[in-house]
Amino acid sequence: MAGENVTAVPCRELRAVKAYIGLGANTGDRESNIRTALDRLASVPGVAVRRVSTLRETAPVGGPPQGDYLNGAAEIEVTLPPEALLSVLKELEREAGRDFAAERNAARPLDLDILLYGDLQVDSQCLQIPHPRLREREFVCTPLTELGVDLEHVLILERPHILRTPEAVRAHTKRWRQSACKVGMVPTMGALHDGHASLFRRAQEDCDRVIATIFVNPLQFAAGEDLDAYPRTFDSDLEVMRREGVDAVFVPLPDVMYGEGFCSHIAVGAEARELEGATRPDHFSGVVTVVCKLANLTGADLSYYGQKDAQQVAVLRRLYRDLDLPGEIVECPTHREADGLARSSRNVYLGPEDRAASTVLFRAMSRAQAAHAKGERRADVLLALAQEELAQEPRCAVDYLELRCEGSLLPLPEGPVERARMLVAARFEGAERVTRLIDNLSLGGSQNPVIQTPSAH
Ligand code: AMP
Repeated sequence: MAGENVTAVPCRELRAVKAYIGLGANTGDRESNIRTALDRLASVPGVAVRRVSTLRETAPVGGPPQGDYLNGAAEIEVTLPPEALLSVLKELEREAGRDFAAERNAARPLDLDILLYGDLQVDSQCLQIPHPRLREREFVCTPLTELGVDLEHVLILERPHILRTPEAVRAHTKRWRQSACKVGMVPTMGALHDGHASLFRRAQEDCDRVIATIFVNPLQFAAGEDLDAYPRTFDSDLEVMRREGVDAVFVPLPDVMYGEGFCSHIAVGAEARELEGATRPDHFSGVVTVVCKLANLTGADLSYYGQKDAQQVAVLRRLYRDLDLPGEIVECPTHREADGLARSSRNVYLGPEDRAASTVLFRAMSRAQAAHAKGERRADVLLALAQEELAQEPRCAVDYLELRCEGSLLPLPEGPVERARMLVAARFEGAERVTRLIDNLSLGGSQNPVIQTPSAH
């Protein structure tokens, strides 16, 4: 019989529902931990364990280095509501010695998840049913298939939910907030790459729910820029978001963001008319206007932006402060290709020669960074070193190369440069088109490591 701790009151009015539980363990006597939990589960009033899949060895996914798991699934019949079933499972995990204070995805003696509960969909702070990453996880799919679950049917219920209108975003995020979920927002223009994925991952770590937005915002493009040519890759974007566990994505239908009669814009200050703003005078006004709308619609607690666009982060921090927008901005480090090029949706524009030449940006800034690390503190010398490197690449036409205060990006005060951000923008004038790239690097900053991943080329 179940011990005193594992109790749950069966709800007599509920019909028995067929549910599936994910089983896993990677410390201690893994099989015994799982079998003991199943015996204990079978003795809980309101639960009948019908079938158990084969238990298989699987490699851990994410988390710190750890041993292989033993994984499987069980089919149960249950009259307990899902929240009560979850409490039973948590109690069994606790009994097996699971440390709930351990870091996310750490090794564990027992892991029990509600994968499916009839056809029910639950989206509360403590429960998401069907389990959100069910389809990505081989170690869940294989046992469920063995137990005869039709995964095609489950697919229909999967995330991310695609939201097309502001009203849908408002309603969806309101439900999350009502169940006390911490909401993270990641605004993007799509054509998602590893840089975006790293933002989704960070948001996932910090928040209970993550909403991405995909919107190529016409307000931030000037006439003659690449609004129409901007890459649109929604199917593969959906795969990236699915893989990274994004819960919902706002992909506005045409005209719902700026409908008939739209005429209110947010003006930006002088700082937003320097650097990027010097050649793109209306760019940041377009960015802050759309971000203000998105912040209002989602009510996000945290919004994630890439340091790759450092001036955008500075301008948005100003916006949040000046207009008292709720929530906070989280700045995430730049993801780079193995050869140093910062990942960008616009990198696909580069022909092979420009692609090879584009590495000069990172090389130039790294040269200044290395000199700074060796003690060089003269701003003009640091800039000259980077400039010399850039000048060696004839395909690269520099728009600006500047050293600015870290964070605010205001001009540096006179005197030795202890800590600064170097920012560069350059055009690569290929035969087909001109590609404009921006990048930046910290001099003297301790955080923000360079993240490089193998090149997709
Ligand atoms: P975009 O789709 O280009 O508007 O970018 C959406 C968000 O992703 C912005 O906050 C960017 O700063 C961020 N982002 C773009 N490229 C990178 C990158 N290579 N590393 C990290 N974040 C990035």
